[in-house]
Amino acid sequence: MTDCIFCKIIKGEIPSERVYEGKTLIAIRDINPMKPTHVLFMPRDHVKDVLGLASWDHAPAFQAELNQAIAEVVAVEGIENSGFSLITNCGSDGGQTVFHLHFHLMGGSPIEWAKLAQ
Ligand code: AMP
Ligand code: ZN
Repeated sequence: MTDCIFCKIIKGEIPSERVYEGKTLIAIRDINPMKPTHVLFMPRDHVKDVLGLASWDHAPAFQAELNQAIAEVVAVEGIENSGFSLITNCGSDGGQTVFHLHFHLMGGSPIEWAKLAQ
């Protein structure tokens, strides 16, 4: 996707702070962090959202690598004991703004989950 900001980040056309680089995915720091740790995990291939995983041939490899990548990043960030949230937004009610699948890893201070219940 030529007009996708995350595809441009993956290609190196837009700078980012990478915290993980793997075969099927990368992880970068969010440009507008909501928590002390706010990292985005995204597939190297353009997949629009979490629903796209169901019809993507490489989804099993991506999801297997995602498991490892999350564990590695959480350890490096030192939040494995304090905890974190892993969130993916989908569509307009989900509040998705970048239509390239990504998972937000947020930690380092408490997430007020109840505030989502509006
Ligand atoms: P979402 O609303 O779930 O689609 O999340 C998109 C996220 O991408 C937001 O948290 C943005 O702050 C983040 N974002 C947008 N542009 C960039 C960028 N150039 N580098 C890093 N993160 C970005
Ligand atoms: Zn993309």
